[in-house]
Amino acid sequence: MACPFCSLLCDDLSLSVSKGNIAVTDNGCRQAKLGFEREATVEFPRINGKRVSQTAAIAAAAKLLRRAQRPFISGLGTDVEGIREAVHLAEKSKAIVDHGNSAGFDGGMRVMQSKGWYMTTLAELRNRSDLVVIVGADLVNHYENFVRRFLAPKQTLHLAQSKPRRAYFVGDQSVAPKSTKACMIEGINCDVTRVFEFMAALRASIAGRALKARRVAQASMTEIETLGRAIKEADYPVFVWAPAHLHGTQADLTIQSITRIIDDLNKTQRAAGLALGGDNGGMSAANVCAWLTGYPLHVSFAGKTIDYDPVQYRTSALLEHDAIDTLVWIDAIGNAAPPATNPGIKRIIIAPNQAEQSSNADVFIPVGVPGVDHAGAMIRTDSVVTIRLDQVRSSSSPSVRKIIHSIVGQL
Ligand code: SF4
Repeated sequence: MACPFCSLLCDDLSLSVSKGNIAVTDNGCRQAKLGFEREATVEFPRINGKRVSQTAAIAAAAKLLRRAQRPFISGLGTDVEGIREAVHLAEKSKAIVDHGNSAGFDGGMRVMQSKGWYMTTLAELRNRSDLVVIVGADLVNHYENFVRRFLAPKQTLHLAQSKPRRAYFVGDQSVAPKSTKACMIEGINCDVTRVFEFMAALRASIAGRALKARRVAQASMTEIETLGRAIKEADYPVFVWAPAHLHGTQADLTIQSITRIIDDLNKTQRAAGLALGGDNGGMSAANVCAWLTGYPLHVSFAGKTIDYDPVQYRTSALLEHDAIDTLVWIDAIGNAAPPATNPGIKRIIIAPNQAEQSSNADVFIPVGVPGVDHAGAMIRTDSVVTIRLDQVRSSSSPSVRKIIHSIVGQL
């Protein structure tokens, strides 16, 4: 079975189901257990907290959207079909559409749009890379199965057994992944607020330029030079980072400095990057939005033509500046409460059957979880593979696609 609870979309989990309760029996991580084993509760559509029929809730949501002057559709924690309908809803209601965590992967998007990059896939990393440099990505708390499935898999297609993969973790060693028998992970401690300085020193070292500094961002020059030599000696080094785990405003600089090293290496050898991110439907949302509009999220349908603005139409900016009057928040995968908004903003919450998600909602409509309550498909973090999600338990909860399709029908 495939797991929808992070963008790795691991498809080798074993689950058992008894009376609607799911247990993860093999290959799941802590996050998968939290998601699949979440207690299934029965919830009902609500208007201003009062229980109503689904038909009435859908009609009330459509009415709010017809009256809205500045509607905004966000969250987008759902599968490909749900996101496709959400973009359609944005078009019909002249709304802005974005993903709830878009700020987390915008850093990579800006670098890609401005200068391009050499990127690879999870399969390519697993099968061909003999050296992996993990730059600050917290695999322990966010992508727990990355080591098992991609750094130390039981089988690879091409990597010669005679040359076992090496890996380095650059960053805060308190979140360093542990070595396994199949993959030794060496740690280099680095100040997480100065990773771009580390990368600049590494670039200089790889290019053979001598630096006078003894330490850079807490790492010794000896460690940096050792890593530089290992990268030059490797057949196919791959750098792995997670934009959301890089430090604040320096995320762009850090990603740029990593991609410059990769550019340099590709003049004489093969090297690539792999960004981890787009959880909670984020990678599916960016791709679906790009197919349908030509832009990866941050899109407004309010004017005569589609308007793309990654600064103005970012979820955090729109909520912070009170630039909307109606919020449609869709989150069928995550378990977090929707963001707070000012009292004047109307709220339509489309989420699984959890009481806290219905609080403060003008309209609350419960939905099922893709890959748990209904089948679906999501796009993996490397953006090249669409993973099929199966229905795991029988459920009467509708999909996001079905609910939004009904709202669109009334606009
Ligand atoms: S690493 Fe992600 S996709 Fe894989 S089992 Fe854990 S939560 Fe699910």
